[in-house]
Amino acid sequence: MDLYKEVGNKLITTVVGSYPVDSLNYEDALTRAVNDQMGAGIDIISDGQVRTTMVDLFAQDIEGIELRGTSLKPKLPEIVGNLGYKYPTTIDDFLKAKELSEGKSKLAGIIVGPTTLSYSLDVAPKFSLTKYNNRNYLIGELADILHENAKELEKAGADLIQIDEPCFSVLQKGIDEKVKFVDRVLEGIKVPTKLHVCGNISKIYKSLLNLENVNILDHEFSGNPNNLNTYSKEDLISNEKIIGFGCVNTMRETIEPIGDIENFIYKGIEHFGKNIIVDPDCGMRLLPYEIAFGKLKNMVIAAKRAEEKLY
Ligand SMILES: [Zn+2]
Repeated sequence: MDLYKEVGNKLITTVVGSYPVDSLNYEDALTRAVNDQMGAGIDIISDGQVRTTMVDLFAQDIEGIELRGTSLKPKLPEIVGNLGYKYPTTIDDFLKAKELSEGKSKLAGIIVGPTTLSYSLDVAPKFSLTKYNNRNYLIGELADILHENAKELEKAGADLIQIDEPCFSVLQKGIDEKVKFVDRVLEGIKVPTKLHVCGNISKIYKSLLNLENVNILDHEFSGNPNNLNTYSKEDLISNEKIIGFGCVNTMRETIEPIGDIENFIYKGIEHFGKNIIVDPDCGMRLLPYEIAFGKLKNMVIAAKRAEEKLY
């Protein structure tokens, strides 16, 4: 997909990733996530990340990490040995979603970012692996492992690869160093790439412009309208960046009216130009099912209306 050419002519819709599971088993939840996203008319869908939490989903694929939490008693996974790439469970889910979508929708491959993953792991004291107590060393090893995952997703046919680094917006220091690990995960990836960082990005957005291997910078704007006052159109053009414009609030359990979403999209275009694609603010896993589906449907209609008017 020639992304830059396409975004100028079309308002592409996508998702951040997760979708409600309720009491469904993961296969049924995955099927529902794919069917609903396609039913709503989303251009680039996901597998719904329904199997488990984002951290556990990737931690289970890494050698040297043990999962300890249960749904009733969440607990951080623990580093118990040398880390290594094991098996891409996420690829199985990706392939299942691909089969279900029958090539009628584009499909994103989603990977947790190495910095966020590093802050979501404990190091077992009995292994006293001092090298893993060095934060940037640990992030570097995780980045190399997640890079394998990115390559596998691309090989499996991902139309877009997304990295999630929610922790970037709350990092106190060292953002410029941490940003480089995202580039490392995406090194050599040929399909369009997206970095999702939710929260307030006013302190960190300038660092994100330096990313070499990221095409789309994706943030929440509906729940965090201050984020509108960050990047300038010139920033985006000179750094060849597209904005992933979060335009429905994933923290609020009400469905935004179509007209409100449409008006908010115009606001996004006013700030960032037509260099945007639209999606919800963040993952939808924690929303009631009907609300999540309703938000997607209204978002697509709003985007279509905005597209008819302005493109
Ligand atoms: Zn998020």
